[in-house]
Amino acid sequence: MFYQQDFDVIVVGGGHAGTEAALAAARMGVKTLLLTHNIETLGQMSCNPAIGGIGKGHLVKEIDALGGAMALATDKAGIQFRTLNSSKGPAVRATRAQADRSLYRLAIRSILEHQENLTIFQQSCDDLIVENDRVTGVVTQMGLKFKAKTVVLTVGTFLGGTIHIGLQNYKGGRAGDPPSIALAERLRALPFRVDRLKTGTPARLDSRTLNYDAMQEQPGDTPLPVVSFMGKVEDHPRQISCYITHTNEKTHDIIRSGLDRSPMYTGVIEGIGPRYCPSIEDKINRFADKNSHQIFVEPEGLNSIEIYPNGISTSLPFDVQFDLVRSIKGFENAHIIRPGYAIEYDFFDPRDLKQSLETKFIQGLFFAGQINGTTGYEEAGAQGLLAGANAALQVQEKDSLILRRDEAYAGVLIDDLATMGTKEPYRMFTSRAEYRLLLREDNADVRLTAKGREIGLVDDDRWAAFNQKMEAIEQEKQRLKSTWIHPNHPAVETLNPLLKNPVSREHSLEDLIRRPEMTYQKLMKIEGLGPALVNPQAAEQVEIQIKYAGYIERQKDEIAKSLRHENTLLPMDFDYSTISGLSNEVVAKLTETRPETIGKATRISGITPAAISLLLVHLKKQG
Ligand code: FAD
Repeated sequence: MFYQQDFDVIVVGGGHAGTEAALAAARMGVKTLLLTHNIETLGQMSCNPAIGGIGKGHLVKEIDALGGAMALATDKAGIQFRTLNSSKGPAVRATRAQADRSLYRLAIRSILEHQENLTIFQQSCDDLIVENDRVTGVVTQMGLKFKAKTVVLTVGTFLGGTIHIGLQNYKGGRAGDPPSIALAERLRALPFRVDRLKTGTPARLDSRTLNYDAMQEQPGDTPLPVVSFMGKVEDHPRQISCYITHTNEKTHDIIRSGLDRSPMYTGVIEGIGPRYCPSIEDKINRFADKNSHQIFVEPEGLNSIEIYPNGISTSLPFDVQFDLVRSIKGFENAHIIRPGYAIEYDFFDPRDLKQSLETKFIQGLFFAGQINGTTGYEEAGAQGLLAGANAALQVQEKDSLILRRDEAYAGVLIDDLATMGTKEPYRMFTSRAEYRLLLREDNADVRLTAKGREIGLVDDDRWAAFNQKMEAIEQEKQRLKSTWIHPNHPAVETLNPLLKNPVSREHSLEDLIRRPEMTYQKLMKIEGLGPALVNPQAAEQVEIQIKYAGYIERQKDEIAKSLRHENTLLPMDFDYSTISGLSNEVVAKLTETRPETIGKATRISGITPAAISLLLVHLKKQG
């Protein structure tokens, strides 16, 4: 049976990619259906209840700048906020929030339920309807068919999911949820390259059985950071501390003694795990010289007794988990509420995707999130938003929204995936971006909000607030540029002791801010020179734009140079073997990857600048 109404965009999966995808498409005014296993798990965090961090925080701000939900929900659910790298330069500063797991889910659900053009339906999607290499709908577990112009699959770790605890294993999408078996089989029958990855999670502990006196307290920051550009400190719930403890030699001995029953070390798990979020058994093996590893003791929520011990993810048998937990300082009497486990799942080679996240083989079918080989809520959310937007743009017969590497971490993420693929769960780091100085958390709105507005992702309130902020920044910069201080100015008496070299001639306030020892806020506190802008985000922009202007300009020049050939198109049916001078290896790599542009070709590992020159010469000859 066909459902009574047809849709423009169907999003399958209500995790982090799916909710952003569905919201993005609906914000853009197209009829959207979010089809998910279970409405109670919309926006569920499968692993640790935290959003942001280095690289990931940048993605959250970008999602927010494009009108997405993740940052808004984090502000409503965050119970401990910190700015990481706060003593370092603005490019690598990042916001991280410990979230109350259920408040986060509720916040996401509320945003979904208030979104116009969005219908939610609870059922498993078991099949896709594909006609002449174009997706035209989906079929649910009970045989209900939904017609749509486009479909976005965001099914996370659920495809063919297998949960491992020691040498026991069973089918599951994550603990407590069923796997997607029928859909996995259907997708495996399509011409996509598929492989297995794995990820894991630690045991959850009963907070009432922990000894906090033996641990180090870690309070949040003051003043409290806010994640969304539209967020307010007043949105935050009550704040609480996290704690820190450590593994020790005894813990490591217990782990070693259990390795003969570890699914990872006995070859039962074949999928590769996240390098930067390894299990504790992996850590003691890889860093054999370290006799202790840090554990962040993170509360799961304000009204929850569950504790997430961040740093001891494991798939060892339960008896080993029990002993290893109890060997840790402060956990001597800990009760495990949920055992840790690893999960293996199917993912699809993202090189089979266009930059829009549409699959290369089935028109109208988009993939986003963990299905593309990434790990993390933020990576999933960013892809989801762009896949949902691009599905909507296709319905509207408009060009795709493709973010360049110099415009957004989301652009770096998708370009890395689509160009190079991944052999292990991919997570974002600031080091993945060439143009870090431009891609800061603080300026995500400056980089992206107008782009989002242009295609309907950004609502009137956000747009008005953004314009007000931009105007305030511009006016303040003009004022600082045109306000001059001479040695006889009344402010100089207070100013000089703050400077390495006293004011000896006329200086603009802008010049003074550029001095390393001076900041915008310090200068504005001097009578007669302030006051500083009230909006702290606008004030921060003023400071960064002035202090780093030279570096920023230099980076922009570099980008302009590399952009010259970035978008030069390479035909999809290009026969690379006909270009004389290209090595067999280069021909094989280009043929396998089929980059859409010269820019993408340059980022394939093993493709040399010489090979790029040959390609350019060949293209020029062809005219
Ligand atoms: P998910 O959040 O998994 O959401 C998928 C959604 O699709 C779910 O709502 C599901 O019910 C729904 N769904 C699936 N199949 C169907 C279907 N056929 N029909 C309808 N609905 C369907 N990330 C880290 O950054 N660090 C970690 O250490 C880490 N550890 C993890 C450990 C475990 C055990 C798990 C399960 C995940 C872990 N993650 C970790 C990953 C993180 O949870 C994911 O990256 C993120 O949730 C991916 O978001 P997603 O939207 O792609 O998928």
